[in-house]
Order: sequence, then C-alpha cells, then structure tokens
Amino acid sequence: MRKKVVIANWKMNYDFYETTSFIRNFLNVISERNINHDKEIILAPSFPFLHISNQILQGTTLNVAAQNIHQKEKGSYTGEVSALMLKSIGIQKVILGHSERREFCFEKNNILLEKIKIALKYDLNIIFCVGESFIERNDNKQFEIVKNQLKKTVFHCSLDEIKSFYIAYEPIWAIGTGKTATFEQAQTMHEFIRILFLEKYGENISNKISILYGGSINDTNARDLFSQKDIDGGLIGNSSLKLEKFLKIVQS
Ligand code: PEP
Repeated sequence: MRKKVVIANWKMNYDFYETTSFIRNFLNVISERNINHDKEIILAPSFPFLHISNQILQGTTLNVAAQNIHQKEKGSYTGEVSALMLKSIGIQKVILGHSERREFCFEKNNILLEKIKIALKYDLNIIFCVGESFIERNDNKQFEIVKNQLKKTVFHCSLDEIKSFYIAYEPIWAIGTGKTATFEQAQTMHEFIRILFLEKYGENISNKISILYGGSINDTNARDLFSQKDIDGGLIGNSSLKLEKFLKIVQS
C-alpha cells in the first residue's frame, strides 16, 4: 500500500504567531476530537519558523518541510539558506521545483538538479513539483512538458536516491486560481508519471512512490481527487491556511 500524504504549503503567508498557533490548535483538535486519518501530514512554514514548528511537533507523527534550499553547500550567497543549515535544526524534508520558484526566482531545471543533489547529500526527502502552464495544456503539450521536467532533474538520480522523493503534479493553471484539474485530468497525468517511473526505475519504485496532486484542492474536491488510483494525496496552498478546511482535506 502506498503512503497517502497531505502537505500544507504556507508559502509567505503566516508570521510567527500564526504559524505556531495553527500548529498548536491543529494538534489540539486532532486529539480532542480523536480524529483518525490515514495520511502522513507535512507542514511547510517559512524559514524563520521551521525550528519552532519542528520543536512543537516533536513526539507527534506530523513533519515539517522547508519551502526551498540554495543549490550551493556554503559560502557568500547573501540571504540564502543551505541544506546543511536545515539539517542542523532537524529538518528532514524540502519542497523543490515549485512553479512559483520556477517563475519568480528563475529556477531552471539545471539549478533544480543542483538543489536535488545537495538535498540528497544532506539526506533530505524531496517533494518535487512538476506541471504545465495553461498555454502548454491548450497546445496538448502537458505530457511532453512533465516528462521533460522529470528527465532533466529527478531522473538523474540513482535507484537508491529516488527513494527519497515525493512527486507533486501541480498544473500551473490550477495553482491559486480556483480552477482545479478534473479528477480525470489529474488521474491521467498521475498514471503517465507512474509509467515514467516504471520505465526508468522498475515496478517496485513505481508502485511505491507517492504522487501528489496540487492546484486549488479544497475540502469539497479533495475526496474525489484522493480516491483516484494514482493520486496519493495533495500539496495544498490556500486551503491549508484554514484549520477546519485543512482538517477536512486530511480526512478526505
Ligand atoms: C501550491 O502552491 O502548491 C498550491 C497547490 O496552491 P493552491 O492550493 O492554493 O492552488
């Protein structure tokens, strides 16, 4: 059975108080209401709050992920954060390849490959995002785009390294827009991605790798999406900022 995963990507939204109170309230609600769920839950706050978030979550089954790392190990890169720094405060996971970083921070596939390599060197699990733009989908190029993104980055990894990955399929046209991919569109792409993993790494990896969907998931569409055979959970932006909504998604 594949791991089901739900990730809250809080982006640049929550300050210290909002981050810590969300986490504390979330833990309280889960225990007070005796909530059962079958998902691995990962929260991705901003850099300054990773340490405290990790401390609050000690002893729970929830995990923390960073939203980015720099591709270099160390040195004169003002304002950047390294994989080693994250490791030194106990962080085990990082999101890479998010379309907002590809677009606003000009992160191309070659840079992302460097980031992957440094993350692996420091034993970080990687949540790697792929996805096509609206124009690319209109031109029916979505499969070619996603295949190319994987080929130039993740598929440079060995059979052993690939075990550290989660993949997130996030069509850019669905991120933060309220336009979710239909469950058929999402399932078709997830199946395609799984076949690519089958061809490259074999049956064992392709059966095990968690492929998450991201793009305007909310508490009403999550159940349909998560019940597709190749969709193993979600990467959630906006709807992860509201505790009750996020809780419903976790339970979907
Ligand atoms: C995201 O940014 O990863 C995302 C999926 O955002 P939203 O859920 O707001 O579309």
